[in-house]
Amino acid sequence: MERVFNFAPGPSALPEEVLKKAQEELLCYGDTGMSVMEMSHRSADFAEILDQAKADLKELMEIPDNYDILFLQGGASTQFSMIPLNLMVHNHKADYIKTGNWAKKAYEQAVKVGDAKVIASSEDKTYSYIPDYDISMLRPDADYLHICVNNTIYGTRFAPDRLPETPDNIPLIGDMSSNILSEPYDVSKFGMIYAGAQKNMGPAGVTVVIIRHDLVGQADPSIPTMLDYKTHVDKDSCFNTPPCFAIYMCGLVYKWLKEKGGVAAMAELNKAKASKLYDFLDNSALFKPTVLNPIDRSLMNVPFVTGDKDLDAKFVKESKEAGLVNLKGHRTVGGMRASIYNAMTMDGVDALIDFMKKFETENK
Ligand SMILES: *Cc1c(COP(=O)(O)O)cnc(C)c1O
Repeated sequence: MERVFNFAPGPSALPEEVLKKAQEELLCYGDTGMSVMEMSHRSADFAEILDQAKADLKELMEIPDNYDILFLQGGASTQFSMIPLNLMVHNHKADYIKTGNWAKKAYEQAVKVGDAKVIASSEDKTYSYIPDYDISMLRPDADYLHICVNNTIYGTRFAPDRLPETPDNIPLIGDMSSNILSEPYDVSKFGMIYAGAQKNMGPAGVTVVIIRHDLVGQADPSIPTMLDYKTHVDKDSCFNTPPCFAIYMCGLVYKWLKEKGGVAAMAELNKAKASKLYDFLDNSALFKPTVLNPIDRSLMNVPFVTGDKDLDAKFVKESKEAGLVNLKGHRTVGGMRASIYNAMTMDGVDALIDFMKKFETENK
């Protein structure tokens, strides 16, 4: 069977070149005579894979030297708890901007740890926009401000030039699970960035944490060792067995990105893909985007509806038959969602638009 165009929100499509490289190396990695899956995480060969992945990510995101890079397990969802346990430690207060389900889930875990407060929300309109924020809304004694930079389900994002400002003593924490490496963000504007790999970076099973070094080591010693960032910083992500193969796959994706010209080049392509799709949606007689303000629109996740549930279902069914899969929207938005991460080619976006045009003509 031929490969389909996979518009899944996550786990999602990986670059074909990366999958082929992994296939090539699956039985014997280099001159080791074994698969990366069979290697000791204490071996020199794996140490090199880990170091190279870190170095390439550092280069791609221009991560300053005073940040630690970790490859952890437990998904972005575990970060929802680790963040308050490690960082809500001075005044036991933290502020959250609620822009979707993931932002809400992060907030709910912080409530268990201390005084967490939602200071802005777009829940009133099914999270279809980025709410206004200014620095006066932030509690001056908050230990941090948390945002979900790209809202996977609702298709909104804080653009790189629209990140909330915070005073120097209040770090900004960003969940970038669904848009890490999609366009350049200034890492130094964040105290910490985290991302589950399975959207835009690799397979499920590894979560990248990029944390400013001065924020590490503040947690109360009573918290579980595995949940303390210091444990993982001290042992360079190898306190326990790391997800070796998932890290290796991320490393291959980083190499692929570098070959493609890096994050800035990828951003150009992502902007071209998203604007082509949005141009079509904005002018369509049948389909409507759910995020109306162009400055709030994600480059990665594009939700749209026909306004008729049965027609939406027909679209999802027929698009699948045409080799365009996983276009069903999240149940809280309905309709459709095209996730067009780095690995989605312009050919895939063109095929989707062609199919939508055909569907529009047939269902007038
Ligand atoms: C998918 C997703 C998560 C959850 O990730 P897990 O790795 O499944 O825990 C969190 N935040 C965002 C923005 C996501 O897209």
